Amino acid sequence: MVMTMKTQRKFKNYAALLKAFIDQGGEVTAPIDLDAIADMLGIEVRDAPELEETDVIGEISFDKEGGHAVIKINPFQNTYLVRRRFTLAHELGHYCLHSSSDKQVFSDDRKTMNRMASYWDKYESEANSFAAQLLMPKQLVLNESGIILDSYITENGGRKMTTEQFTDQIARVFCVSKQAMQYRLQSIGIIS
Ligand SMILES: [Zn+2]
Repeated sequence: MVMTMKTQRKFKNYAALLKAFIDQGGEVTAPIDLDAIADMLGIEVRDAPELEETDVIGEISFDKEGGHAVIKINPFQNTYLVRRRFTLAHELGHYCLHSSSDKQVFSDDRKTMNRMASYWDKYESEANSFAAQLLMPKQLVLNESGIILDSYITENGGRKMTTEQFTDQIARVFCVSKQAMQYRLQSIGIIS
């Protein structure tokens, strides 16, 4: 069923999306302004309280031409800002990578938005990777890491920061969960 889907890439990857955002006058600073990016793409993002009794955390639907898109966020499953940001970034991933003319909805729950549980699902694992990269762009993570470490060492008379303290602090700068940041730092190679 999934094999027959026709999807198209609107952007090759997260870097291409951020480049377009910068070209349109957007600023790539932490935390990444996802709402401004969605605005630039002409995507309607709305809270969907009608999803209360469902397991749906977020979903994106495309019109028949695969053009105009609407992202619905279940407010009951996204009460924490970091959760909402991840949900929105995941749906933006579907928009950029999987705009579709024959499957018009991607509906996400705990399973599709989990990195491990979605491992074998091409579309969901791509959307999860895209979300992590968009929320935590590599170069920006490297820059912010340097700033955090330098100021800590200066303020603490040369003492080094623990990995735990560092992850906690940089996760707050990017407004993401500590767990998401830990995995991203590992994949970039900043922590082991
Ligand atoms: Zn998804």
